[in-house]
Amino acid sequence: MTDGKLAVVGLGSIGSMALWQASHLSDSVTGFEAASPAHGRSAVGGDTRLFRMIYRGNPGYYPILQRSRELWAELEAETTTDGHPLLGRLKEGSRIYTATGFSGAGFKTATGFGEIAAPEALGKRSFEGLESARPQRFN
Ligand SMILES: Cc1cc2nc3c(=O)[nH]c(=O)nc-3n(C[C@H](O)[C@H](O)[C@H](O)COP(=O)(O)OP(=O)(O)OC[C@H]3O[C@@H](n4cnc5c(N)ncnc54)[C@H](O)[C@@H]3O)c2cc1C
Repeated sequence: MTDGKLAVVGLGSIGSMALWQASHLSDSVTGFEAASPAHGRSAVGGDTRLFRMIYRGNPGYYPILQRSRELWAELEAETTTDGHPLLGRLKEGSRIYTATGFSGAGFKTATGFGEIAAPEALGKRSFEGLESARPQRFN
């Protein structure tokens, strides 16, 4: 892709991953989603998914499964460049508060980080000692 123009319509499982890969190839890619990101009514909606290294009835897909497993790890690593989450306001005084990039440790820590994120986002309290998770570390 050299003309730098691609629109991906539908950002469920396949569309979002195609958009991610396209963003490596062009700085002019756009995604369109009829609902909100990660909404519950798409095929990918819901709380759980399994990843099995089998593809019943089509062994020809096996290399894609192997590559998919590598790419999930790559996606985790790309979420933040240093492997730590992004927790806090994007800039001092910004109204945008982010809690993302928890990679493979986000489920076990979700309750604890949720308890930190809620009062911080509402401006009721701020927590010390989380410098490695603050977005400002990249400034
Ligand atoms: C209950 C359930 C359990 C599953 N379990 C597993 C599992 O354990 N492991 C596994 O590998 N797979 C599982 N699957 C299958 C997997 O979730 C689907 O194969 C996969 O999500 C399909 O991806 P998709 O991108 O084609 O569709 P989707 O993920 O549904 O994405 C399509 C997106 O397009 C959007 N859209 C539709 N029309 C428009 C429009 N006109 N304009 C803009 N956006 C539009 C939709 O809102 C949606 O977000 C499961 C599926 C279901 C339903």
